[in-house]
Amino acid sequence: MKYLKLLTLFAVISFNLNAQNNLNLENNQQEKASYVIKNVNVIPMTNNNKVMENATVVIQNKRIQSINDSIPTNAIIIDGTDKWLIPGFIDMHVHNLADGPYKSYPTKGPAIHFDTQNFMTLYVANGVTTVFELSARAEHIGQRNEILRGDVVGPRIALAALIDGSNANMTATTPSDGRQTVRLAKGEGYEFIKVYSQLNIETYKAIIDEAEKQGIKVVGHVPAAFEGKPAEDFFVPHFGLIAHAEELSKQTEEFSFEKAQEYARLAKKNGTWLIPNLSNLVYIAKQARSLDSVLNLKSFKFVHPLMQSKWIESNQYYQGTNAKRIAYFDKLVDFHVKVVKAFKKEGVPMVTGTDAGTSGIVWGFSLHDELKLLVEAGLTNEEALASATRLGAEWLEIDDKIGTIEKGKFADLILLDKNPLKNINNTRKISGVFINGKWIDENKLDDMLSYVEEWNNANKENYNWKEVIRKIRGR
Ligand SMILES: [Zn+2]
Repeated sequence: MKYLKLLTLFAVISFNLNAQNNLNLENNQQEKASYVIKNVNVIPMTNNNKVMENATVVIQNKRIQSINDSIPTNAIIIDGTDKWLIPGFIDMHVHNLADGPYKSYPTKGPAIHFDTQNFMTLYVANGVTTVFELSARAEHIGQRNEILRGDVVGPRIALAALIDGSNANMTATTPSDGRQTVRLAKGEGYEFIKVYSQLNIETYKAIIDEAEKQGIKVVGHVPAAFEGKPAEDFFVPHFGLIAHAEELSKQTEEFSFEKAQEYARLAKKNGTWLIPNLSNLVYIAKQARSLDSVLNLKSFKFVHPLMQSKWIESNQYYQGTNAKRIAYFDKLVDFHVKVVKAFKKEGVPMVTGTDAGTSGIVWGFSLHDELKLLVEAGLTNEEALASATRLGAEWLEIDDKIGTIEKGKFADLILLDKNPLKNINNTRKISGVFINGKWIDENKLDDMLSYVEEWNNANKENYNWKEVIRKIRGR
C-alpha cells in the first residue's frame, strides 16, 4: 500500500502546459535540464536546521543532486546571491476546483469544466508544491493525472476520500457500511480517509478502526454527535489529524486555555496532530462583517469567476449576519490562538492547512496568511516554516521524498529575496520556484498569474453563480 501510494504521488512529471495556455515554459528541452543555484543561503528545515550560507545547490533529474559539491557542465546557473532557499510549501487542507457535475445539484444541465492549469497556477506562483485534497472525488484523481502526465504544471496531490453520514459522495450510517466504505475508497485509489461531521459515533469509530486495519491514515472532523460528551470519547488512536481547530471549538462553550490544554493532552496521548487553520476563521469573521473583505483581497482577481460570483452573491457567512454571530466568530478566533499555544506547550505537531476553496480563502495565497497568523499565535518563524514543510511531509509519510532540502530529495524549492527566519512575511517575496525539479522564475510566475487574471476577466459573464446553478438544476 505504501509503495503504491508513493508511486502515485511521485510518478514522473514533465512540464508541458496545455495548448490553450500558450505560455512558454521551455518544456521539452529543459525537462532534463540541470540547474546550479550559486551562492545561496540554504534553510534546509531539517531537525537541526543549520543554515548553510553561500552554498551551491545542484538539481539534476528532478532531485537535489548535491549541496556544496562539484558542478555539472551545461547546467543552467541561477544566481542565489543574498537570496534564501527553503523547501516548497505543503497545504494540508484544500478543496480544489475540479469538474462537475456535483452530487448535490441534479445533473440535468451541463457539467462545469475547469481549466486545471489556470487553477494550479495559484499554487505554483505561491510556492505551494504539495497539497492535501480533503474532499476528493473521482474528478480529483483525473486532475492529478493531468499533472502526472505533464499536461499541467501543478503540485503533488494527496487525496482523502470524505465519508459522512449523509449528503456526501460516500456515506455510511452503520459500522458495517463504514468499514465497507473504507475498503471501497482504498480500492478506488484514495490514500487517506476523511471522517466528517454527520457520522454517528459507532460508525465514526468503525471507520477509524477499519482504516487502521487497511493501513490508511485518518484526518477529519469531530462528528456533531459528540457534542456534550467528554473529549476522551472522540480522541481515539488512529484519528491522526484534526482538519481545523474549529473542530475543537465546536465541542465546547468554554473557550479557556485550560480547555485547550485538555484537548492538547488528549491529542498527545492519542498521537493526533492538528491543522490549526487560523486563517479560515479570521476570514469568516471578516466576511460576517462585510463583503469588502473579499472584494478587497489582492488575490481575488485570480479566483475563478464562478467562485468570485459565489463568494459575493451567495456568501454563507455574510448572508443572515448579525452582531451575535460576529461576536461568536471573534470568540472562536481568540480560542484558536489558545489552542495553538496549548498544543505547542504540549509538543503536539501542527501542520499548516488553510481550507482553501471556502469563501475568502484563495488557493496558494492563503498559505502565507496562515504562516503569519501562526507566528502571531506564538510559533517561532522556524516552527511555522516547519509546519508548512517537514511536518506535513512527515504526516503524509513522504518525508523521505520532500519537506526538507537534503541531497536526494525531490527539488520542490522556493527561492526567496529575503530571509523568512527573520520575518515570516518574507515567504511572499518569491524570486522563483522549483516544482518537481523544474525552475520557474518570478517573471514566468507573473506571466502565468496574468494569464489567469485575463482569462477570468474575459469569462466573467459566463459564470454568474446563481445562473449557473439555475441551469444545472434545469429550472
Ligand atoms: Zn475543508
